[in-house]
Amino acid sequence: MIIIKSEREIELMRQAGKVVAEVFEAVKPMITPGVTTKELAHKAEEVIRSFGAYPTFKNYNGFPGAICTSVNDVLVHGIPSSQKLKEGDIVSLDVGATLNGYNGDACRTYLVGKVSKEAEELVQVTEECFFEALKFAKPGNHLGDLSHAIQVHAENHGFSVPRDYTGHGIGRGLHEDPVIPNYGETGRGVILKEGMCLAIEPIIHQGRRETRLMNDGWTAKTIDGKLASHYENTIVITSTGYEILTMLSNKED
Ligand code: MG
Repeated sequence: MIIIKSEREIELMRQAGKVVAEVFEAVKPMITPGVTTKELAHKAEEVIRSFGAYPTFKNYNGFPGAICTSVNDVLVHGIPSSQKLKEGDIVSLDVGATLNGYNGDACRTYLVGKVSKEAEELVQVTEECFFEALKFAKPGNHLGDLSHAIQVHAENHGFSVPRDYTGHGIGRGLHEDPVIPNYGETGRGVILKEGMCLAIEPIIHQGRRETRLMNDGWTAKTIDGKLASHYENTIVITSTGYEILTMLSNKED
């Protein structure tokens, strides 16, 4: 069941989303060779708590970190560790913040120092996939229109789309209906309505689309060891289109 949010709830979602956006502002300058993913997670948690919010992913189904830190061939759910980032790595930070019972969820993939052209293109195209989907984010359109836009943009650049991780509705629950695949067909699926809150999150692979889960039960890697990139924002469908809840409107992200 898809929960339509009231104006009051959307305002609370906005506040939770702002906390997530502030985390990226604070952590981005730290992303240099030598920093550990644990240090990034520690800073993220500090920022989240400074707003009186809770790091949503911490202990979520037992997840051990405050945020997810996924390096290179890890597509999602990397656990913060003493692993030091190296020049040429890419790292995605997936951040959730819960404030007054409502959740914000977003992800960015950052380049560590100078990276290969191929890696940079993957990260760039993944971000573009999100904005391609947004072109269809308005009442009356189908969810499949967004999914399709993501898939087509990724595949047109020679990249692939894993099938086993998706976006989702969001609100009081971190994962609410609907499921939002990063692949699909136009004119299919749920019809968008004002007040729906959605976490749209393209996850794109450089090589094959298959994934494998590590023994820790969380870390998901590309099956061929090639790079993966991830970009996400929480949005709300408005009467005329959408509003992004996890970006600071006055700052570069
Ligand atoms: Mg999400």
